[in-house]
Amino acid sequence: SSQTQPGRIMATERTFSILKPDATKRNLTGAVNAVIEEAGLRIVGQRRIQMSRAQAETFYEVHKERPFFGELVAFMTSGPVVVQVLEGENAVARYREVMGATNPAQAAEGTIRKKFAQSVGENTVHGSDSAENARIEIAQFFQDGDIAG
Ligand code: GDP
Ligand code: MG
Repeated sequence: SSQTQPGRIMATERTFSILKPDATKRNLTGAVNAVIEEAGLRIVGQRRIQMSRAQAETFYEVHKERPFFGELVAFMTSGPVVVQVLEGENAVARYREVMGATNPAQAAEGTIRKKFAQSVGENTVHGSDSAENARIEIAQFFQDGDIAG
């Protein structure tokens, strides 16, 4: 949604986040959430789940022809994940900045992946790459009544 204020447009939007199994396994959910909140993003929906193989395959369907697809689905179902809806100004792009590069070796200082990620596969967080994908991904895991902005 967006709000008009005198002289400026506030592009408040939502994005979809996952704290991946390497984060839950190392008891880092609070530490990662602190980085998210310090960046000005609000956690307006949050649930801890065990992803099924079918859910992971659907979620990462865009990558199904990639050589790492099997490994990715195995990893995402290897333990609990925390699925989240984040809200804030330009939340999609903002969260991608806060996450850092896919490969933690290339992630900028201060980003979640630089601080916590162990490899290009076990890289701690997922974040939507567009507003349209955010809507699709949120709808895969949340009902409207489970989000409160
Ligand atoms: P993201 O949008 O930054 O998460 O990156 P991508 O959309 O390109 O890839 C999705 C996820 O697949 C990444 O976050 C990684 O968990 C995993 N992945 C990407 N590239 C590789 C790779 O080369 N090897 C492995 N094992 N996993 C990868
Ligand atoms: Mg991606």
